[in-house]
Amino acid sequence: MHHMTLAEIARGLADKKFSSEELTKALLARIAQLDPQLNSFISLTEELALSQAKAADARRANGESGALLGAPIAHKDLFCTQGIRTSCGSKMLDNFKAPYDATVVAKLAAAGTVTLGKTNMDEFAMGSANESSHYGAVKNPWNLEHVPGGSSGGSAAAVAARLLPAATATDTGGSIRQPAAFTNLTGLKPTYGRVSRWGMIAYASSLDQGGPLARTAEDCAILLQGMAGFDPNDSTSIDEPVPDYSASLNGSLQGLRIGVPKEYFSAGLDPRIAELVHNSVKELEKLGAVIKEISLPNMQHAIPAYYVIAPAEASSNLSRFDGVRFGYRCENPENLVDLYKRSRGEGFGAEVQRRIMVGAYALSAGYYDAYYLKAQKIRRLVKNDFMAAFNEVDIILGPTTPNPAWKLGAKNSDPVAEYLEDVYTITANLAGLPGLSMPAGFVDGLPVGVQLLAPYFQEGRLLNVAHQYQLNTGWHTRTPTGF
Ligand code: GLN
Repeated sequence: MHHMTLAEIARGLADKKFSSEELTKALLARIAQLDPQLNSFISLTEELALSQAKAADARRANGESGALLGAPIAHKDLFCTQGIRTSCGSKMLDNFKAPYDATVVAKLAAAGTVTLGKTNMDEFAMGSANESSHYGAVKNPWNLEHVPGGSSGGSAAAVAARLLPAATATDTGGSIRQPAAFTNLTGLKPTYGRVSRWGMIAYASSLDQGGPLARTAEDCAILLQGMAGFDPNDSTSIDEPVPDYSASLNGSLQGLRIGVPKEYFSAGLDPRIAELVHNSVKELEKLGAVIKEISLPNMQHAIPAYYVIAPAEASSNLSRFDGVRFGYRCENPENLVDLYKRSRGEGFGAEVQRRIMVGAYALSAGYYDAYYLKAQKIRRLVKNDFMAAFNEVDIILGPTTPNPAWKLGAKNSDPVAEYLEDVYTITANLAGLPGLSMPAGFVDGLPVGVQLLAPYFQEGRLLNVAHQYQLNTGWHTRTPTGF
């Protein structure tokens, strides 16, 4: 049962081949058996899952249908879930039970999904390896000695290991696309504002966006359909109709103009990944696409700009964790200042503290113009590069990551080395554009992803290209040994 995609599960449930309750029990048993190797879950929600599965079966028996009705999923542990621990991967929120459901959680529950649990993640979504979690590192099912990517590493490892068909995730600088690439999944970061951020614990509010992680583009379309839409509770949510993403999958790629930026193929890119990117280009050419070299001249400034803006916003967002209102509080504080200092010092891990300090510094009087304002100007230049490129092409294609998944611990002593791994993904967040990573081959037995970027609100175009590619290639169907 565990090999089925969301689309196959929907057909099986509609044809009464099995019930949601049977499927849910089978997957919960599989998680209990295999997750100890991966550490992909922070919390399991068996009772909730079984009651949701029974309710979904009853709705189907009453004649209701729907692609997500009875579908088992899991939520990254930064989506608030009412009455259930929502830890954000941090000791700070280890004891936090959310008082309400995030909009994404509520929408998916209303569509009939079954929540199996909350997935592991980098603390406050800061990281590219899922090693900064208070609950320990997540392992990559393709090689247990390697990282699964981050910060949505738990969602990625669980889906890749066939513990469940799909999961929610979030992407501030690549945290959906990069773990998708490292674990042979398809992951989509929607346009900023397409998916509500209400109840999604904030890291960098102007960059954060929720989206689906699944094995196929077809499944990303199904899950995104349940997540997307206007939300009056999120002031940056966009009031635009949500198209039928599944209906967009089958468009022809004849004449599709694909831009390949020359800056992507610099010295930092593993040449074996460059070759797989070129192979994917050839595959899409066979399907009728036309390839054009383009330029994104300001790309080189994106990492420094991101690593000023994201920590700046984080330092502000995380000021609410003060030992008074939420989460962790130190023992026996001597006075109010001691309470703040020790609650934050003991509750936040090293990477989170590093970012708060960088962000507070960049925002401080005297440095604001030199760092924060400068970074915002670069952000506009990065966006302008994309706007110019999309006058010439329909889609931009390149590697998702410069290297395949590295060994656990390999970058722990050098945070900047880890930041540099985000070079291909963060530009989409700075510009607010949608991006997708899809499986495109293997290097040393480790999966490699190809990234597609599209103009605002063209998620359907990304899913269309990825689906057509997946109909003609088999990379996404490969399964890690032992799972
Ligand atoms: N790796 C990036 C960071 O650490 C992106 C993380 C994310 O997208 N949440 O900030």
